Amino acid sequence: MSSTLNQKVSKIISIVKESTPDAPVFKHGATSIPTVKPDEDPKLYRLQSFFGAKLSPQSKDGVTYATCRRLFSAFEPFTIETLSKATEAEFEKILIDARHGFAKTHSRQIVAAIKKMVEDFGGDLPRTREEMMTLQGVGPKVANLLMQLCWNEKHMVVDTHCLRVGSRIGIHSCKTAEKAMDFFEKNVDRDLFEDLSVCLIALGQTVCKSQNPQCGECPVKEICNFGKNKGPKKKEEEAVPTKKSRRE
Ligand code: SF4
Repeated sequence: MSSTLNQKVSKIISIVKESTPDAPVFKHGATSIPTVKPDEDPKLYRLQSFFGAKLSPQSKDGVTYATCRRLFSAFEPFTIETLSKATEAEFEKILIDARHGFAKTHSRQIVAAIKKMVEDFGGDLPRTREEMMTLQGVGPKVANLLMQLCWNEKHMVVDTHCLRVGSRIGIHSCKTAEKAMDFFEKNVDRDLFEDLSVCLIALGQTVCKSQNPQCGECPVKEICNFGKNKGPKKKEEEAVPTKKSRRE
């Protein structure tokens, strides 16, 4: 594990937290979605976190947040028992009303995942990453996020922002989320995973856009490989997310 890399990562985290507190991920990201703290009602916290994580891929943080809050107030009480009686059509209507994308697919997967939780996991979230990925619609990224949020197990959550921004800054040179996850697991201190993921997302949401990075306004320009050389250079040098890397 490289201490130079971990020092660079720590510096990025400290600068981004200080300079971009208004990034959507800080206001409406996964940790802000549950209505209870983990120690107040752990089972409810996990159930609500499931919805936040499940509905987050390919959706803006503000939309996911609003959709989840609609769902939480639509079912009373918000328990696995209540949800297990809900139909795909009920979920789909709420998602459509919230203008959440992929409403039909999400609804089908949510109903199947709840059924699995009831039948195989005692009405709760599975306890291991492998079991988590047996829930329909839960891939490596969502499983990592849920293990981190709900079971305090540290895994790196790599979305398209983390892949693109992490590569431009010079933390990794991976072309897919799967390879980047593996790189982080081997080369970065686990205690930095949660903050690093959120801070790379914050940069991606604010200045480090896919097509037009605004390096002149970026708080980490001085320690960013791409920013120091004031890209864009050739497009093929960048990590362009593939279809595979966008998988949940
Ligand atoms: S300096 Fe440019 S390329 Fe580097 S993180 Fe900032 S916006 Fe992205």
